[in-house]
Amino acid sequence: MSDYPGPEEWDTYMWVVAHPDDLEFSSAGTVKKLTNAGKKVVLVQVTSGDRGTPDRNYTPDTLSSTREDEVHASAKVLGLADVVFLHQPDGNVEANLALREKIVRQIRTYKPDVVITHDPFRPYAMHPDHRNVGLGTHDSVYPTARDHLYFPEHMADGLEPHKTAEIWYFGAESPDVFIDITDTFNDKIEALKAHDSQVGMRDDLVERLRERSAEIAKDQPFELAEAYKSIRMFR
Ligand SMILES: [Zn+2]
Repeated sequence: MSDYPGPEEWDTYMWVVAHPDDLEFSSAGTVKKLTNAGKKVVLVQVTSGDRGTPDRNYTPDTLSSTREDEVHASAKVLGLADVVFLHQPDGNVEANLALREKIVRQIRTYKPDVVITHDPFRPYAMHPDHRNVGLGTHDSVYPTARDHLYFPEHMADGLEPHKTAEIWYFGAESPDVFIDITDTFNDKIEALKAHDSQVGMRDDLVERLRERSAEIAKDQPFELAEAYKSIRMFR
């Protein structure tokens, strides 16, 4: 019997995503399921999506503030414990040390058992922000957040090193964690509706999402799923 904690003992989950609505499209059903069960879920929002519109009435400033409001509205639907904005430039996120420092700081602040992010290793993944946030997060969890000589200035701020138990990647080619979202699918739609500047609720969106969730669940004993590739860390 090891003292390694099992998933049922995990309390804190941290999503690190590139854009407002990335959490909702990939994972909102999972998030709601976790918060319904009393788990703590924190969202780290790397950009505020300041380029994500065809609408020429927006400036980057007005767009990012609109989208941050939408994130807060969605967070309320999903029961998030906290939302942190890193204010990185939409479309220009780089997986560099500066980004890693910001993500490590949040990991050391919230001490998640599970960190969830974009799969940066999926072949031909399309958006540079998705790849770079995934990679930056992957490199933050191990070894950077766990060893005290990385960013030692954090300790002066009272932040101790932290060992995360698992990383989950959404958008993965070969997922191995399937979460039953049948009961929280409607909450996922509700959270997506909060992103009014993006979604505008195209008529077929709900149907397409339902079909995709059913396809992900096709080998599972439930109807609708979200899925992740997991990596277990030693701690
Ligand atoms: Zn995105």
